[in-house]
Amino acid sequence: MPSFSQDLSGCQPFSRRSFLRSASAAVVAAPILTEAHFARAAMGAAAVPEFSMNGVYLDANENPLGPSDSARKAIADIIPNGGRYAPPLYFSLIKMFAEQMGVPAEYVMVYDGSSPPLHYSSLAFTSPTKSFVCGNPTYEAGQRAATIAGAKIHAVPLAKDHSHDVAAMIKADPNAGLIYICNPNNPTGTTTSKEQIDYAIANKPAGAVVLVDEAYIHLSDATSAIDHVKVGKDVIVLRTFSKIYGMAGIRCGFAIARPDLLKKLENYGQSPMPITGMIAAQASLMDSDLVPTRKKLIAETRNKTFAWLKANDYSFIPSESNCFMIDVKRPGPQIRALMAKDNVHIGRSWAALPTYVRVTVGLPSEMEAFQTSFKKAMDTPATAFNGLQGRMHRDGIYS
Ligand code: PLP
Repeated sequence: MPSFSQDLSGCQPFSRRSFLRSASAAVVAAPILTEAHFARAAMGAAAVPEFSMNGVYLDANENPLGPSDSARKAIADIIPNGGRYAPPLYFSLIKMFAEQMGVPAEYVMVYDGSSPPLHYSSLAFTSPTKSFVCGNPTYEAGQRAATIAGAKIHAVPLAKDHSHDVAAMIKADPNAGLIYICNPNNPTGTTTSKEQIDYAIANKPAGAVVLVDEAYIHLSDATSAIDHVKVGKDVIVLRTFSKIYGMAGIRCGFAIARPDLLKKLENYGQSPMPITGMIAAQASLMDSDLVPTRKKLIAETRNKTFAWLKANDYSFIPSESNCFMIDVKRPGPQIRALMAKDNVHIGRSWAALPTYVRVTVGLPSEMEAFQTSFKKAMDTPATAFNGLQGRMHRDGIYS
């Protein structure tokens, strides 16, 4: 079981100096948005008050397995200490994660999920003169924050194989501030090869930072970009415990980067960490079976669903992640709205792929409910779709 460790060597967060610097930093009023915000927004205002977990929710790339058994036990065991801030736990978690990543502890910062460092990186490295470059479609939270920073957004279409078109991305703007690569990508679940990421880092405009969002990496065979952090490149890697570790509601995530890059994020805030999130993350990191077991389990459910889609002649983008996109050959929100009537909630659509819907891989029983409802919606005569038009939102979301 993880425990409170007093060994603070190499850990810099929460120093008096950094605390004071945070307190005096310019305040940028902007909400930190998560997948849950986007999923709820796509439901439409009318659906929000009725929201409950009594249904099949395949709309926010959550992990229905929840925290692992060891993480659950760690959470239960620490509840009596819930009246404490427990800074030793904060430092021991950073130390454990840094050791596993093979980087010094000062290269790691822990947050309540990876949304805060994604948001802060966008604010720190983009501006009206430093643009934000990303794939299209991709996860939209970084673009939102960069827009708030007044940055121009260069959303570069994905390549034919749905990997990031890295060559086009690095050419998009010589004044790029942040180049965002989501690997595997949300929403397509597709990966970008290590060679392509190496190329981006080697050839990016001088002064640009490459942000590699590895929220879903454990679910795939993609190779991490952490080696670039180790050798001091202008690279930030993000990790979260919301996906394979099943802790989206418990909260824990990391930024891994050179200390001078991490310091720039500090200006925008530092999460007060819930001790439940910290202890559950430690327990998860100590469980060496967790990642391979869950990766296999989720892949089995995903591949079974793909076999069913193929057998029924539905076209989809093969994914290595816990989400995938299906071409429904009509505005995606129409199918989404029809399925919601069965209490089966699938994900949103993106303007770049307006006839596609994103579906999260749920439990096998949930995917059975998905199949029944999806087929019913797809077999529905066109007249039933009257009034089920989607709305185009900013950032290319279509829901
Ligand atoms: N990055 C990507 C690509 C995501 O899809 C998500 C959430 O779905 C996040 C980051 C942020 O997740 P969290 O704040 O829960 O760690």
